[in-house]
Amino acid sequence: MTSHYQKAYFLLSAATIKQLPPDQGKEVAIVGRSNAGKSSVLNTLTHNKQLARVSKTPGRTQLINLFALDDERRMIDLPGYGFAKVPEAIKQKWQKLVDNYITTRACLQGLILVMDIRHPFRPLDIQLLEFCNYHNLSVHILLNKADKLSKAAANRTLQNHLSALTVYHNSVTLQLFSALKGMGIDSLHQRLNEWYGWT
Ligand code: GDP
Repeated sequence: MTSHYQKAYFLLSAATIKQLPPDQGKEVAIVGRSNAGKSSVLNTLTHNKQLARVSKTPGRTQLINLFALDDERRMIDLPGYGFAKVPEAIKQKWQKLVDNYITTRACLQGLILVMDIRHPFRPLDIQLLEFCNYHNLSVHILLNKADKLSKAAANRTLQNHLSALTVYHNSVTLQLFSALKGMGIDSLHQRLNEWYGWT
């Protein structure tokens, strides 16, 4: 059976909040440090290499890319952050765009935050988590590239960070994931289905 997510198609790219479609229906946004595997997660979720290509297209990486699942539901690809060589002015522009999006978008249901399990919870990740906590936005964290660690080490990392998340009063959930192996895809579907109202 084709999943809801395999029906995703590219809608548009927006450089400003004003360019977004009307604030209606339900949106879930995906974000992460560059190289954590955001494009690979999109690819694994949608089985659509075109989407990941859009998210990597030079000139679109600093934009908000929108993919539609149906008339009511959209997946939002936010610009990656933490690029080593990006000038400060661009970093600030990214931050402003993401901050504006998170604080103004009423149809936003939650945020998928992709981290590399070998380097999770970097300062910018924590900053984003605190920002979402302040704005009462739910976050689901993917500890991606779990295939790079032994099962025991991956589970240890998961447990260590689960206990640290109790400081957040908003809903923050955490799971192991491997975009490469498709590991954890059922849990991701479950969380997304809740947000999109698919039961
Ligand atoms: P993005 O910059 O966050 O969009 O990251 P990409 O999706 O381009 O992935 C960055 C690199 O990590 C690429 O070389 C991917 O092949 C690799 N990668 C992504 N996800 C996984 C994973 O689950 N396991 C492994 N082993 N490598 C991955």
